[in-house]
Amino acid sequence: MSWVGATETAEAVVAARKPYKLVSRDFHPEDSVIRVGDVVFGSSKVVVMSGPCAVESREQVMESAAFMQHVGVPVLRGGAYKPRTSPYSFQGMAVEGLKILAEARERYGVLIVTEAVDHESLANVAEWADIVQIGARNMQNFELLKAVGQCGKAVLLKRGLAATIDEWLMAAEYIAAHGNLNIILCERGIRTYETKTRNTLDISAVPVVKQLSHLPVVIDPSHAAGQWQWVAPLARAGIAAGADGLIIETHPNPAEALSDGPQSLNFRHLEELMHEAQLIAQAVGRTL
Ligand code: PEP
Ligand code: MN
Repeated sequence: MSWVGATETAEAVVAARKPYKLVSRDFHPEDSVIRVGDVVFGSSKVVVMSGPCAVESREQVMESAAFMQHVGVPVLRGGAYKPRTSPYSFQGMAVEGLKILAEARERYGVLIVTEAVDHESLANVAEWADIVQIGARNMQNFELLKAVGQCGKAVLLKRGLAATIDEWLMAAEYIAAHGNLNIILCERGIRTYETKTRNTLDISAVPVVKQLSHLPVVIDPSHAAGQWQWVAPLARAGIAAGADGLIIETHPNPAEALSDGPQSLNFRHLEELMHEAQLIAQAVGRTL
């Protein structure tokens, strides 16, 4: 073996030992800027995404989209496929729900983020939505991550309920290694011994991940808190810590929600949060 060959081999071994490469800051020192339509993740502008946990009806989605347009939220969320902990809970409207979301995009000019739970739903979500969400429960569904790498759409990759930051970044690496670097990481709370909150928002993940990776990081205070009263304080903390965006559950009538009602803001609460978020963004040199 020549010296050159030996060096290359040693480098390859060292590279292979690193758990992630493409998503690492070593590989790409500047912040990645991810453009989806007119919306830019990873710039000085903090991106707010909001809407119901689940698509429940055409009326519910249109009402939500109209309000998002009114308060300047550029991305509408809403699950058409719901990975519910209980098999007896509402499982989502599937393709019918995706079509409703697409209609809301046409009417109100919002982008759509919605979850894919398997290969079949991924094909549908990639066809109808702007951003494919991979939920916490699927963060280590490696076959799905490989397919997401080839889906041609930006991805919102949620952190698993019990995933370390390295495991989360390796999940992102799966998507990147299969051809898609348009990845937005989402901290949504992890399971700890604390039971008062649904999960514990790992606020430290924001600066840690931003140091380790060039990818944008957003926070989901709704699934972390589990209670709407705690969503705004966590959202403010997320922006103060350097998050590039928020994803917030909002429902026209949270008491009637088929999924995650207790943690959903009503429209008035979302409007208040938008004002507060703007003040915090300004304080850290950003805009909303
Ligand atoms: C959701 O966004 O409604 C959801 C199911 O989130 P997570 O995967 O973070 O639990
Ligand atoms: Mn939810």
